[in-house]
Amino acid sequence: MLGNFTYHNPTKLLFGEDAMDMLADELAGYGQTVQLVYGGGSIKRNGIYDQVTEALKAAGKTVVEDAGVMPNPTIEKLREGVAIARENHVDFILAVGGGSVIDYAKGVAVSVHLPEDTDPWQKYWVDFDEPTCEVVPVGAVLTMVGTGSEMNCGSVITNHDAKMKVGHVFSNPDVFPKFAVLNPRFTFTLPRYQMVAGIFDIMNHITEQYFSGTDDNTSDYLSEGLMRSLVRASRIAVRDPENYEARSNIMWCATWALNTLVACGKATDWEIHMLGQAVGAHTDATHGMTLSAVALPYYRLVMPYGVEKFARFATAVWGVDPEGKTADQLAAAGLDAMEAWMREIGCVMSISELGATEDMLEAIADSTLVMQGGYHVLSRNEILEVLRESL
Ligand code: NAP
Ligand code: FE
Repeated sequence: MLGNFTYHNPTKLLFGEDAMDMLADELAGYGQTVQLVYGGGSIKRNGIYDQVTEALKAAGKTVVEDAGVMPNPTIEKLREGVAIARENHVDFILAVGGGSVIDYAKGVAVSVHLPEDTDPWQKYWVDFDEPTCEVVPVGAVLTMVGTGSEMNCGSVITNHDAKMKVGHVFSNPDVFPKFAVLNPRFTFTLPRYQMVAGIFDIMNHITEQYFSGTDDNTSDYLSEGLMRSLVRASRIAVRDPENYEARSNIMWCATWALNTLVACGKATDWEIHMLGQAVGAHTDATHGMTLSAVALPYYRLVMPYGVEKFARFATAVWGVDPEGKTADQLAAAGLDAMEAWMREIGCVMSISELGATEDMLEAIADSTLVMQGGYHVLSRNEILEVLRESL
């Protein structure tokens, strides 16, 4: 049965190669002082920074720069961003980058107006509390595709002292970006490793929501369509990174994969993200690759608990011929097909390639949150088994 749900996504999307032309007008609707948030400098090398500052100038904004947001943004960096926002009384935060920059901007936005003695880490990433203060509005210019952060209310922050990397999916609609500029051409300069990591992040966002439940749910048919489009476009993009059609389809898949649509009426799993984030907390590795390294051992372990859905995945997404196969064989063939695709596009297939070693596994297991919504709830021993298989 389709469960009850509320679907409310307030983010306005500006999509296409001319999308930046609309940025100045879009900014006009918000306050005077803008905190311009970006990462380690790719936007200065590829010209996006110049286009953004031109739009800010055309809109007559006062700009306060907040650069150097690292991949897997840390709580220390977030505290610096909050201090910049408070000092300059910012009215709006413009995030120019990938998921790290946008997640960070949301984290700053919900923390600026907290009482000074409230610790954002404890409130948002330990207690999973909702904002009890005004949220500074955020806008995004997306340069790296994968997370869906441009149209969702999630924010993943890393705390190296606690060895935790935690995502909070806020319920407050004020946390969604007000708008997101999506120009597929902006992704042409991504290193191949980042492009592939993003592609697997997208695939995994969809499968985390797809592999749950036994109902006949429209959201699952939407997911199958997104996965087929992603697989097709990714095969083209790895051979021809400047293929606009493929890059634009990947960008569009990423947004729909994680803007709450395909979760409507469903339970969802998210255990691979919990495992991947635990690996990330100990290695600081690239998010999408932490997921690809653990995905197959996890799915092969839980497959017996959800065989029918894995068999459906094999035929509906990968076109495996069901003729003469038992449900178990079909389900296994689907995962084999996913594995072949992952190898073809260049996913990292083991956590040792990301810096994890045998003696770290217990600590990584300690950092792994256990989810309840998939086909099987992992025991401590099973978490260790998946990690060992992923080495
Ligand atoms: P990212 O960490 O934002 O960016 C990765 C790298 O790509 C950076 O080094 C960045 O360099 C570079 N880069 C970005 N755009 C580029 C471009 N156009 N050309 C060349 N290089 C470019 O990657 P991400 O995968 O989008 O974000 C990962 C974070 O999001 C992780 O913390 C992950 O846990 C989180 N996440 C969030 C959600 C959510 O729902 N909110 C979902 C999944 C994951 P510069 O720093 O120099 O710009
Ligand atoms: Fe992700």
